[in-house]
Amino acid sequence: MPIYEYMCQECNKSFEYLVMGRDNPVCPNCNSAKVMRLMSACGFISKGAGGQTVKSSSGGCSGCTSTNCSSCGH
Ligand SMILES: [Zn+2]
Repeated sequence: MPIYEYMCQECNKSFEYLVMGRDNPVCPNCNSAKVMRLMSACGFISKGAGGQTVKSSSGGCSGCTSTNCSSCGH
């Protein structure tokens, strides 16, 4: 199940949300539904030809700010 990073447009907090089905995330801080999904390279892990896990080579992603990014480890 994909975990996406969202930013609340009301309080500008970003948070991660585990999307199940057609769930719409709400901000855990202010309960607003006005949240915006952040485009991040996190989670884009593709399988190589040899079955190896290949990460994006960009070295971090837009989700990797000052906080740790659980998806890409930066
Ligand atoms: Zn909020």
